[in-house]
Amino acid sequence: MTAEEFARPLLICGKSFPVDKQRTVHLPVGHLITHKMVELTVHVRRGNKPGPRLLVTAAIHGDEINGVEVIRRLLMNKMPELAGDLILIPIVNLPAFLARSRYLPDRRDLNRLFPGSATGSFGARLAKLITKDIAQSCTHGIDLHTGAVNRPNLPQIRFCPGVPGIEEMAIAFGVPVMIHSESPPGSFREIFSALGKPQLMFEGGEAEIMEPASVSLALQGIISVMEHLQMLPPSNSTTPRSKPVLCRKTSWERAPRGGLLLPVMQLGEIVKRGMLLGEVGDPFSKKRTPIRATREGVIIGRTRNAVIDEGDGIFHIGDINESSSMQNNIDAAEAELDHSLNHQVFDDSKDVSMEDYSYSSN
Ligand SMILES: [Zn+2]
Repeated sequence: MTAEEFARPLLICGKSFPVDKQRTVHLPVGHLITHKMVELTVHVRRGNKPGPRLLVTAAIHGDEINGVEVIRRLLMNKMPELAGDLILIPIVNLPAFLARSRYLPDRRDLNRLFPGSATGSFGARLAKLITKDIAQSCTHGIDLHTGAVNRPNLPQIRFCPGVPGIEEMAIAFGVPVMIHSESPPGSFREIFSALGKPQLMFEGGEAEIMEPASVSLALQGIISVMEHLQMLPPSNSTTPRSKPVLCRKTSWERAPRGGLLLPVMQLGEIVKRGMLLGEVGDPFSKKRTPIRATREGVIIGRTRNAVIDEGDGIFHIGDINESSSMQNNIDAAEAELDHSLNHQVFDDSKDVSMEDYSYSSN
């Protein structure tokens, strides 16, 4: 973003956000049956010098909680030397969040409704608002997700290859695994890809659960990306960042039969072809059936269900060619995580006061 572009007030739905100010705006989306307005809460923090405009979003899927906490913690950091703009949306899909559901009340997936429509369904209108009034003016994005219920994911970055600068941004995020993943039609990522702007998708932990390790890694990852984009000065941390391993393909190892799942392997472990991943116990006999790896890779996701059917996905494997260095990277990431948990990233006592900017009252 040029100095001239940066110096202009940022406009979101007709509201003006001047340079070197931070404000919170509540954008009207549509009415509930109860006549209450559903609002999209957006925190806008403008720096005092030119730089990128980074959008960080969470809870597009309403039951994915870790990202909401990540953004809450980002809000606690004053960032006095911020260059560019940081736009934070802690809960994109508020109706789904309130219902503790992945989906919108009409059972649609908001992350398949982009770019949306101003005259479409509630979800389509929400998607349109975010696309037109916020995402289009941003230069970079990070969208925070988790695995589904009972399907935890190893902290990982997914990105669409080919967008300029995206791979460097993914490496800067610094989680052990990054995955080439095309944007599904109608996804938020597809908007950024179509605009030729880099957006990372972070996955870590599982739905409905607050997982401190994933929250901490995501928080550190966003700060690292902001340093990489020169939105923040380099940190003084002497802890080396682990270089992620790239997976170009992922696939599920599936249950050979139904029964009781007795897993042997855990998230982040390296598997070789033929290695025992777990067993399926027959609830009516002493019989056990082994589940063996059909390929080499790293376990990036798994089921936590105790009772499984034949064909259920048990372990999600990311294909890798560099397994010898992979375990070192995961070990380094774990050491880094221990460090971050023992040395709080931010001082929670210094809360940031955001000027509240109620859209509907103006
Ligand atoms: Zn999600």
